[in-house]
Amino acid sequence: MPPELPDPASPLVVVDIDGVVADVSHRLHLLNQHPRRWDEFFAAAAHDPLLPEGHALVTALPEGTGLCWLTGRPERNRRLTEQWLTRHGMPSGPLLMRPDRDRRPARQAKRDFLRTLRRTHAIALVVDDDPTVIEMLVEEGLPHLLADWLPYSPRLHQAQERQGRT
Ligand SMILES: [Mg+2]
Repeated sequence: MPPELPDPASPLVVVDIDGVVADVSHRLHLLNQHPRRWDEFFAAAAHDPLLPEGHALVTALPEGTGLCWLTGRPERNRRLTEQWLTRHGMPSGPLLMRPDRDRRPARQAKRDFLRTLRRTHAIALVVDDDPTVIEMLVEEGLPHLLADWLPYSPRLHQAQERQGRT
């Protein structure tokens, strides 16, 4: 079932999960191995610590804006991800996830989601920790914020580029 979007009158703040509100660093070692252990990498997301900077951002959104989560995590991790967001007291919002078979780099999948979203909604801000996603946002002319509170992982970036998995 597609997630329900807020009222089109509300500008959206679109927020990434990994590296923005969820600390992925404890599971990056699973990508340091060959073959990479993607299923375990995603399953271990249940144990991600909360990033307080990201939590502060999403709990202090301007009045009248709607929150939308946009993650490179695959759909098969929906339940785990929804439970994690609830457990950490995150404000609710539609959760847009990459289709399970979509292995393109995150920036391409996210670009397509955002192009669809902006047909119906004003986008007030997009928050992401991936510099290549930020470059895409600049190209798309979208307001953006680079989440730089967790050092961005070159390992994860390489894996995304070569295997398009997250
Ligand atoms: Mg991220």
